[in-house]
This record gives sequence, structure tokens and C-alpha cells, in this order.
Amino acid sequence: MPLDEVIFSELQKLVGNENVLTELEDLIPYSFDGTATLRQLPGCVAFSQSAQQISNVLRLANERRLPVVTRGSGTGLSGGSLPCNDCIVLCTVKMNRILELDAKNLTLLAESGATTLKIAETAGAAGLFYPPDPGSLKISTIGGNVAENSGGLRGLKYGVTRNYVMGMEVILPDGDITWLGNKCVKDVAGYSLKDLFIGTEGTLGIITKVLLRLIPKPASKRTMLVTFPRMEQAAAAVSAMIAAHITPCTLEFLDRTTIRCVEEYTKIGLPLDCEALLLMETDGHRAVVAEEAVAMEKCCRDCGCESIRAASSEAEANELAGARRTAFSALARVAPTTILEDVTVPRSELAQMILFIEEVRRKYQLRIGTFGHMGDGNLHPTFLTDERDADEMHRVEEAFKEIFNEAIRLGGTITGEHGVGLAKKAFLPDLLGSTQMRVLRQLRSVLDPNGILNPGKMFD
Ligand SMILES: Cc1cc2nc3c(=O)[nH]c(=O)nc-3n(C[C@H](O)[C@H](O)[C@H](O)COP(=O)(O)OP(=O)(O)OC[C@H]3O[C@@H](n4cnc5c(N)ncnc54)[C@H](O)[C@@H]3O)c2cc1C
Repeated sequence: MPLDEVIFSELQKLVGNENVLTELEDLIPYSFDGTATLRQLPGCVAFSQSAQQISNVLRLANERRLPVVTRGSGTGLSGGSLPCNDCIVLCTVKMNRILELDAKNLTLLAESGATTLKIAETAGAAGLFYPPDPGSLKISTIGGNVAENSGGLRGLKYGVTRNYVMGMEVILPDGDITWLGNKCVKDVAGYSLKDLFIGTEGTLGIITKVLLRLIPKPASKRTMLVTFPRMEQAAAAVSAMIAAHITPCTLEFLDRTTIRCVEEYTKIGLPLDCEALLLMETDGHRAVVAEEAVAMEKCCRDCGCESIRAASSEAEANELAGARRTAFSALARVAPTTILEDVTVPRSELAQMILFIEEVRRKYQLRIGTFGHMGDGNLHPTFLTDERDADEMHRVEEAFKEIFNEAIRLGGTITGEHGVGLAKKAFLPDLLGSTQMRVLRQLRSVLDPNGILNPGKMFD
């Protein structure tokens, strides 16, 4: 049903006149997220400022059967916060307060629109550490991170968002407000609904507050940049470190195309004469870091690395890690359309996956820059293309299919951290099979029988 003036005025009563956008020029910035080629105008945008307001909006939406798409900062890379036709986009960015830092229990409570960076900085100021650090952390919201179960550069040692969520306040599609989880380190009472909601991409409820686990800050860190003459050697070095029971906190990979784009963008002196680069970090007790750094260097040398540069100061270490974070933006500068993909394979299969991506690139004559969280087996082959070129876009789609199929064949998955959203929903049934797809549908229909929350995302 198209949204009309009556709905707009009801929404204005619920969230305030100034918090409802209806004019075309105001809606355009909300018609896309970080995913290339996907665009759709919403019916309107409403900014919520409290859980009660969201509850009221969802009650209205349920009564009138209006679709609601939750949006944090819109940095998602699978079209999760892309509006559907005539929907209400419910944006949480105005709910961005840090509500509590509990130093006795090592927890932090934040509203879901707080940025990941604000959370990390608040924890850091108290001598604590919130490890998940998606490349988008300066702007992504913690609600978006939980909804996507986002990873980051430190996933190998510290895990992903899920590993730090102790509780959350959720508004169910019928408008009921509920708390899931608590500050207890152990709790096995009932099904873990808190865990169910992590990674549901805004399809089961709207997260309004998140209770996060913090950990002590590591005492020291060593950052190294290693170059390799061939990509598969970098992959082999990662597999060798895993097999040698070394757990660096960061093992990030950049291929030649990405290195060149990042250097062009950041001008920090990355080596341009290599095929592959690993950004490696180890952190923890000083003695352990020293020992682990030596072992990591040995694995790289054994796999034929060309050079190893250790950061000599914290500023240099931050510069190197910061350069890696710019990979997507740096690649996005060189082509009209940048399609960033996200496949994960068991780490023993990394070299095979990298060679396969290269084979596909050649077969379809495409430009691909590949980077990723190699320690997690998570690669981001990024297609540098032009959506106006129908023939090239067809080849890009065929290349995707082959890459996803190969990832599944190798025991991997079609997304390690960016989610299914709209972009990958066609591939989900092949990965999960009919029984799991049935259970997903049943779960969704129990919580959202009228199908108002993020319809069409993840599966139909
Ligand atoms: C440059 C760049 C680098 C990135 N690097 C990484 C990375 O290293 N690792 C990684 O995992 N991702 C990365 N991403 C992807 C993206 O930033 C993450 O998925 C992030 O968690 C999205 O947060 P957001 O606030 O922008 O959410 P949005 O894009 O607004 O929404 C994402 C999904 O979450 C849902 N959602 C948002 N808020 C809520 C809420 N409060 N309650 C319920 N559902 C909600 C939306 O409906 C949508 O389905 C990157 C993106 C960019 C552009």
C-alpha cells in the first residue's frame, strides 16, 4: 500500500515532525547502502529517538501492514538496509548514546545507533578493549554490526561481534519491547534468543540497546608488513601460521591491484613491486609478542616472502592498519562501479581459492582487486566495473556464480561477514539446503506473521 499523508502525519505524531522525511530530495540519500547497483526509493524515512517510539511505529506498521526497513548508517554491503517499495525506513542514528561503562563487570551498554568507533574509544579511555573493528568502524552503528554479525581486522584472534554481545533490547515486529541476555558470564536458561537475533539483518526485530563484553587492553603489539612474489605464497604463509598454532590478531591480505590503489590513495610508501602483501599484527604480553613475531616471520620466510618491514612506532603501525582499512574506498576510486564480494573458505583452502579467483578473472576478462581478512579465510574479491556496460555486468555475474560455487565446493560459505541481504539471497538455498531454509522461514513467520520487517531480504 502506498504511504500517504495520513500515514505521514501519524508517524509525525509518533516521532516528531522534524523526524519524518517525505520529500524526494530528502529520500534519495536513503535509497541505497554500500552495495553497488542496488537502488530503491523508500516511502518515507523516520528517525527514532527511543525504544518506545520504535514500538509505536511497529504497532502502526503491523496494523496497516506497512513494510519497515531498519537502517543504521547504511554502510552494509549486501543491500540489507535497501528500502523496499513504499516502505518506512526506520533510522536509528539519533539513538547514539553510550549509557553505561561497568568497570566491575567489564561491560558497556550503548544505544544501537552509536558508532563502533565511539564504543571502541569509550572502552579505550577506561583502559579496556572492544576488539571487533569492521573497516567501516568510523561510521557503522553497533546495531548494524550486531544485525550483520560484523567481523573486522582482528577476527582471527578476537572473534566477531557475536563474541562480545552479552545482551540487547529488541523491539519485536508486533511492538513488544524485550531484553535478551544479561551481564552474567554464564546463562543457559531457555533458548538463547540473544544469539538468535545476532546476524538476522533486521528481519526479526529492531535492536535498540546493546550490552557488550569488554576485555583488558593488550599490553603490547607488533605490526609487520610482508611482501610476496606470488599470491598463493601469502596464502600458504597464513596456512602455515595456523598450522603452527600461532594466533596473530591480524592477518590481512592485499593483492597487487589493491596495493597500487591503496598506495595511490594513501601515499604511505607501500611496496609496489610485489604480487601480494600481508599486514600482520600480534598483540598481548610483551614476551609473547616478541616470540610470536619471530615465529610469524619464519613462516613467511619459509613460504618465500620477499621483504618484512616492522613498524617502528605506534604511529607507523596505525598508519599501516589505517591504509588497509581504506582498501575498499581506494578501489572504489578507479572504476565507476565497485562490487565488493565476500567469500570465506576453510583456511587450508585459501591458496586454492585465490588461484581460482585469478582463473575466473582471466576467463571473464575482468578487473578484480582482492583483499581480505586472510587469517579468517575471508576474501573480498572486488570487481572494478561499470554498471552501464551490460555485457561486462553479465560477465561479472557469471564470475560471481563461479566464485560462490567454488567456495561452497571447498567447504566455505557465500558470505563471511557482509550478510545475505538482497545481494546474495539467490545463493542461500544452495548453501543451506531445503530443511534449513524451511526452518528459517518458520522462525520468521512466528516472529513476524505479517512480514512487515525488511521483507524480501535474506529469503522471500
Ligand atoms: C568501507 C567499508 C568497509 C567495511 N568493512 C567491513 C568489515 O571489515 N567487516 C564487516 O563485517 N563489514 C564491513 N563493512 C560492511 C558494513 O559496514 C557492516 O555490515 C556494518 O555492520 C553495517 O552497519 P550499518 O550501521 O551501516 O548498518 P546498515 O547498513 O544500515 O544495516 C545493515 C543491516 O542491519 C540491519 N540493521 C541496522 N541497524 C539495525 C538495528 N538497530 N536493529 C536491527 N537491524 C538493524 C539493516 O536492516 C540491514 O539489514 C564495510 C562497509 C564499508 C562501506
